[in-house]
Amino acid sequence: MWNGLRLSRTLLVKATPDNGGDSRAVRDRPGPLSFVRHLFMIPAAMPYAHVIADASRRSAAPHEPAGHSRPLLIAVLGSTGSIGRSTLEVAAASAGRLRPWLLAACRSTEKLVQQAKVVRPAWVVVTDKQAAADEVLQDLPADTRLAVGQEALCELVQAPQIDRVVSAIVGAAGLASTWAAIEAAKTVALANKETLVMAGPLVMQLAARTGATILPVDSEHSAIMQALRAGGSHEVRRLLLTASGGPFRTLAVEQFASITPQQALAHPTWSMGPKITIDSATMMNKALELIEARWLFDIPAAQIDVVVHPQSIVHSMVEFVDGSVVAQLSPPDMKLPIQLALDDPQRFDGPARRLDWTAAMQLSFEPPDVERFPALLLGREAATRGGTAGAVLNAANEVAVEYFLKQSIPFTAIPQVTRAMLDDHPYQATPSLDDILAVDAWARREAVAWIERQAPP
Ligand code: NDP
Ligand code: MG
Repeated sequence: MWNGLRLSRTLLVKATPDNGGDSRAVRDRPGPLSFVRHLFMIPAAMPYAHVIADASRRSAAPHEPAGHSRPLLIAVLGSTGSIGRSTLEVAAASAGRLRPWLLAACRSTEKLVQQAKVVRPAWVVVTDKQAAADEVLQDLPADTRLAVGQEALCELVQAPQIDRVVSAIVGAAGLASTWAAIEAAKTVALANKETLVMAGPLVMQLAARTGATILPVDSEHSAIMQALRAGGSHEVRRLLLTASGGPFRTLAVEQFASITPQQALAHPTWSMGPKITIDSATMMNKALELIEARWLFDIPAAQIDVVVHPQSIVHSMVEFVDGSVVAQLSPPDMKLPIQLALDDPQRFDGPARRLDWTAAMQLSFEPPDVERFPALLLGREAATRGGTAGAVLNAANEVAVEYFLKQSIPFTAIPQVTRAMLDDHPYQATPSLDDILAVDAWARREAVAWIERQAPP
């Protein structure tokens, strides 16, 4: 338990058989990319190889600077999203400790150009090839270069200049670039929980092998990472993931079928991107987080519980064997876990909001209601079964959320589609990454077919 993370941290600074006894070899080596290219069907041309090669010739210091003698260079994957924008705020408030070197997004070229004008990164990447033709990209600062496509992103994320990678692309689309970053032994601030939901064991094994470090950005997992420091891994009894319960915590279950996207997008405590906001309303987000915690902390699903805490102040807790419960508290503001993942193990006086202890405050806790939120059962099942179950749950849920947002299915159909895909899928206990990508494609296809059978277009 928890050793996965510790082990990989140790490898970051120690020589290992894998890197030929040289503690810098893994990080210095230009990323091979062959495996990731094969898996994600990325073409063989490496138009950005010169960037990586030049830098590794030039630089004996792709490693994190000791004691921050120079800024940490960061890559922000999904910079135009909610986590990406908060990351840039954290960097701006870091007094030069964190400097964005690469920004990446899919289609929001205008936002990307605005960001580039402010932070002047070395690179921006637009993964959508059509959007990359937008005229607005002509306005990029002269010293910022443009790269296009997912293959370019996977290649550039391995550049040795990069100290930390913020993985904040939404959904399964974030897996390839996160995988590439881990393959290149980067320190990854992981917001894209889908990476671990889909391929947790393989991702953690890869990190252990390359010496990459994965630091959680998800506020619950960040809280657990901090609380775990209060004891040894053998002293942990269980993890307690807190959940706000979302906007429908107290809504009568009979009314769930008529919930509209607009209602579901109004989260009571957190401001986030649309997909995770819907996931919070169904509590599928907590299901995904349960799976994320299972692999990140290497702890059986039976030792992870969910507690509803509507105020979103206690971000999660660890119960130790003696009955002590250690919690992390702060206002619901993602800038804090982002900052911690970027500068761990150091803390600095950043832009995140603080609790006001001069005002009265009430914190309440209650058990989750699985009748209202059956997604929780699906998450526990997938975390317990492992194998391909997480990838199927994730893919079916992504499809269902998309259909709900365009008002093609009711809110209650989201866990139903996911349930059906979990039941029907050709389960494999120890899949390869190829198998996981195949089952992801299968679940997307079948989920659409299931939806169309229920309500023909
Ligand atoms: P948003 O929808 O706000 O942003 C998504 C980002 O991903 C955008 O920058 C988007 O670019 C980019 N993106 C989408 N598809 C691609 C692609 N194919 N290639 C490159 N970039 C892509 O999402 P959030 O910031 O809310 O969430 C991001 C991740 O963080 C999710 O995995 C979520 O679960 C996780 N997370 C989020 C939290 C939050 O508070 N928001 C809390 C904890 C975890 P574009 O703008 O061009 O579409
Ligand atoms: Mg969370």
